[in-house]
Amino acid sequence: MLEVQGLTKYYGLKRAIYDISFEIGSGQIAGFLGLNGAGKTTVLKILSGFLLPTSGTVKIDGTDLVSSPDALRACIGFLPEEPPLYPEMTVRGFLRYLAQLRGVATRDLKRQVERVTESTGLTEVIDQSIGSLSLGYRRRVGIAQSIIHDPALVLLDEPISGLDPIQIVEMRSLIRDLAGDHTILISSHILTEVEETCDTLLVLKEGELVARGSEADLRERFAAALSVRVAIQGAAEEVRSLVGGLDVVASIESLRHNDKECVLDLTLQRDEPEALASAVVGGGFGLRRLEPSHNELEGIFLAATTPRTPTAEQSEGEQT
Ligand code: ATP
Repeated sequence: MLEVQGLTKYYGLKRAIYDISFEIGSGQIAGFLGLNGAGKTTVLKILSGFLLPTSGTVKIDGTDLVSSPDALRACIGFLPEEPPLYPEMTVRGFLRYLAQLRGVATRDLKRQVERVTESTGLTEVIDQSIGSLSLGYRRRVGIAQSIIHDPALVLLDEPISGLDPIQIVEMRSLIRDLAGDHTILISSHILTEVEETCDTLLVLKEGELVARGSEADLRERFAAALSVRVAIQGAAEEVRSLVGGLDVVASIESLRHNDKECVLDLTLQRDEPEALASAVVGGGFGLRRLEPSHNELEGIFLAATTPRTPTAEQSEGEQT
């Protein structure tokens, strides 16, 4: 349904995304994942027709977006990260206005607004002003405007961020319901927000697609990258030298220490934390803690997305 080939975008000299290719089948939900600045919004803006790529192609059912932009805009709906909503308008008035802008025929306006408010769970607030709605309901209005013209492809930029836990559950279920009639691409920087909702995950790191597949595919592919946190009694340099020299350790992500212990975040080569434990104890150091750093899939996501240069947070307190 959606075919993206070699998508690249430079903002002046700044490379935002590079050589991104993927496909999404009809009726599927795909999740675009990456840390802030990874390039998610840039991809969504290109797919929605807001931005032109520097190079690459986007096709929907075989039609090219760059050569037929008007035809394709008609089959794309977009919820930006900060959707422009008019707080003084009612939900009904706003959706009617957007439907007119999107070229919905006058005779279909009433039916279309009612259909969309029903499918997004807005019927009970349809005559309320948008400014009086909770964040969860305002987000629904944003989704309703994105599907008002019944697009085949719906792009949702961070639709779950900022919602409370109950609203998150409702939003996931709303997105799942929409997938029957639409193909959906969601962006998020938090894996757990989208892993349950999406059929396919596309992982972006520094503008490049570094992994894609179902949650199970990603688990299998990154199974060897096991993140652990270990606390060891000993001087920082001695601990670093011992741990850094072990076969089972792929990399030391960070090391902090105080008077009592060194705390290291490590990626293991293989799922053998016991090899690490026995080497530490055998080397004469006290092993105070050894635990998984993140929940398993979150660890996979971090292993795939974290830039090679440590972030300011990781470097804080780090001794080299
Ligand atoms: P976020 O979740 O923070 O929005 P993102 O993954 O959506 O991040 P983008 O907004 O696509 O990332 O940005 C990708 C890169 O391009 C970033 O380094 C960003 O600073 C840069 N960038 C984005 N827009 C522009 C612009 N108009 N001019 C120059 N650089 C830009």
